[in-house]
Amino acid sequence: MNKQNDIYQDALARLQQMGQGADVSPEVVDLLMHAEVLVTASLPVRMDDGSTRYFTGYRCHYNNVLGPTKGGIRFHPQVNRSEVQALALWMTIKCAVAGLPYGGAKGGVEVNPKELSPMELERLSRAYVRAMADFIGPDIDIPAPDVYTNARIMGWMVDEYETIKRQRSPAVITGKPISLGGSLGRDEATGRGAYLCIREMADRLGWVSPEIRVAIQGFGNAGYHVARLLQKDGYRIVAISDSKGGIYSEGGFDIESVWTQKIKVRQIQAVYCEHTVCELVEHKKISNKELLELDVDLLIPAALEGVITTKNAANIKAPYIVEVANGPILTEAENILLGDNKIILPDVLANSGGVIVSYFEWVQNRSGYAWSLEEIRERLEEMIVKAFNEVWHTSMHEERSLRSSAYTIALRRIGDAVAAHGTREYFKNGKK
Ligand code: NAD
Repeated sequence: MNKQNDIYQDALARLQQMGQGADVSPEVVDLLMHAEVLVTASLPVRMDDGSTRYFTGYRCHYNNVLGPTKGGIRFHPQVNRSEVQALALWMTIKCAVAGLPYGGAKGGVEVNPKELSPMELERLSRAYVRAMADFIGPDIDIPAPDVYTNARIMGWMVDEYETIKRQRSPAVITGKPISLGGSLGRDEATGRGAYLCIREMADRLGWVSPEIRVAIQGFGNAGYHVARLLQKDGYRIVAISDSKGGIYSEGGFDIESVWTQKIKVRQIQAVYCEHTVCELVEHKKISNKELLELDVDLLIPAALEGVITTKNAANIKAPYIVEVANGPILTEAENILLGDNKIILPDVLANSGGVIVSYFEWVQNRSGYAWSLEEIRERLEEMIVKAFNEVWHTSMHEERSLRSSAYTIALRRIGDAVAAHGTREYFKNGKK
């Protein structure tokens, strides 16, 4: 199988590579070479014209040694078994790096949601939950939003789950609307978490923010919030893109006005030429490929996985890459980048703000007590800075890449939980 084309095989190859250097029992890596459960379901949806369409939905529980599994649901035409398993494996590592009491999961539906009417989208969201109701639950597996899903969709899903179970159960899904038990600060959490990691890295590297030129691929939930917070600190966001292409301006963009216009016209390239802000900022249109290869200081892939491959790795000029998307750099491409002395802040740390605040939402739902936004931001900062410090410290002291450090920490934590159940050495030596 071609690793370039199979993201799960690539994720497994990376796990093995990371496991070799991590000084953990081979049993831990063996355990994580297999997904515990992978459910595939056909989701019948009544379309507005009266016909029925069948969509394929997936849910993968990767590993639950550290707790109930946790991971988003993606609605995208390219969703497939391999992608769902890779994303679920990365969630397992991510939750362990952040020190959360969760294993990893992921779900998705192979669909282009932009082609559905709002009512078709609602029926699809409910059909997904009907198919997966026996596999999810507050102590089993807790979904959340991911690419092309949002709080409204999570709201429909919780409602469907509660209808099936005939009881209120807000802790079954996170990323809900606030009015249905969602948490303050969940919408910005992934971007804020990434921003906090960049702030910590900048402190250690002595960056002066106005001198740092940033390119961001993917201007959705995660990309927008990280861009907004970086700009507030003085960073220059010189390039941004969405699925239809990107824009570049040496002087930098005003993120709030680009975002407002994008919401109106749903396309970033139209932002500065079809509306009143046309004259405000000189810019040029660029492709997503060009964006990745720009000569900037900081590159932030915040869209989809597998965008930096062996084909373009040697063309990447940015010395620092922060992975806000899950899995944007394939394993062999990373080896090329590390050979070029690039510093890569890995997804399993950089985008963990989302699952950290999802964890807060789950805790609030279970205790029936809602926290203030300040409290959530403080606790997020405390948790992600702690995780960042551990990864950075391990990287410095054990001379590892930041990804290798993050995997090492995660595999050791999972290893401790595996050992607590009893390992081969334990039983072989007949210890009591
Ligand atoms: P989103 O749906 O809000 O935004 C996705 C953005 O990516 C959109 O702007 C879309 O136009 C763009 N995009 C899609 N295909 C693209 C392509 N081929 N080239 C360039 N841009 C493209 O999704 P999101 O929640 O912001 O997620 C983005 C990434 O962050 C994903 O990899 C996701 O798994 C990861 N992530 C999200 C969260 C979260 O809480 N939302 C948490 C952790 C990780």
